[in-house]
Amino acid sequence: MRAVVLREPHRVEVADVPRPEMSSATDILVRVEQTAICGTDLHPYEGRLELEADIVLGHEFLGTVVAAGSAVTRFSEGDRVVSSCVVSCGACHQCRRHQPGNCAGSRIFGLGLALGDLAGGQAEFVVVPNADSTARAIPDTVAACDDDILFAGDIMTTGYEAVARAITPGDTVAVVGAGPVGLCAAMAADVLGAAQVIVVDKVAARLKEAANLGAVAVDADQDDPADAVLDLTDWRGADVVVDAVGHESALLSSIALVRAGGTLSIPGVYNEDAITLPFGELYLKGVTLQMGVSHITEYMDEVIALTCAGKLRPGSIISHRMGLSEAAEAYRMFEAREATKIVMDPRK
Ligand SMILES: [Zn+2]
Ligand SMILES: [Zn+2]
Repeated sequence: MRAVVLREPHRVEVADVPRPEMSSATDILVRVEQTAICGTDLHPYEGRLELEADIVLGHEFLGTVVAAGSAVTRFSEGDRVVSSCVVSCGACHQCRRHQPGNCAGSRIFGLGLALGDLAGGQAEFVVVPNADSTARAIPDTVAACDDDILFAGDIMTTGYEAVARAITPGDTVAVVGAGPVGLCAAMAADVLGAAQVIVVDKVAARLKEAANLGAVAVDADQDDPADAVLDLTDWRGADVVVDAVGHESALLSSIALVRAGGTLSIPGVYNEDAITLPFGELYLKGVTLQMGVSHITEYMDEVIALTCAGKLRPGSIISHRMGLSEAAEAYRMFEAREATKIVMDPRK
């Protein structure tokens, strides 16, 4: 089958690789129909996360079940499914306490041996382990379309959880970074009852998308984000701040935006060993920090239900549709921020 493999940093190729095989009775084999490039894929692409050679990339995908293991109860051949990007065991201490993102045996598609050795979904076929808990059926309703449901497995649910765990209706939610997760967080904040949503970025096209969602867009190159947020909150600061970037500079500006007693929610991915923080400011403000790998399977059902009800439309952020054969160009464009979100079709 054809699949996107990472040969070395900055070099992806569409290669002919063996079709993955089911190895457990709880697996399903899925023929992929749509797969997206996620900001997390740039960690191995840019060499910040070292992977073994020739890993099949990708952890955002949906498709049709072509085979189901004998212990799978929720799916059978022909069912259309979307998969969580994170696979959890369902049995460990954390999983039993509804924290699958902290699973002792957590695995993520397409991120190499250290994250569970799962071949990625930027391919014609992918094996989904623990299918009953990892995958969800795509509802056969008119309101839900694949472009929106695709993101329930990762970015939409990541953005949703980042806000849902922190918000009280009526809050001001400030989102730092109007990339895909940031835009999804802004959508979620609106649905979850935010009185106002403020989005901070420097890229004009992304700020325009945030404004189209009804958010107050703050261009950090033109205005000091802290001043802008204070102006909009009677000098309190935002109740909830979402760092949707995952970079030290974004973390520091996020801290400046949160009010005393507020929550800083960090869905952005960090793999730095250490970052210097203004800890006195965090302490005096009494800021609650919330972070870590998302508990996708805990929030996916809510997100799918809201998507089917037409209340979340993350498909609106798709800027480019390409064939899998164009993966090298797609990665180049995504890294260069020439595209907000790229969806690839493995049949092309
Ligand atoms: Zn992702
Ligand atoms: Zn577990």
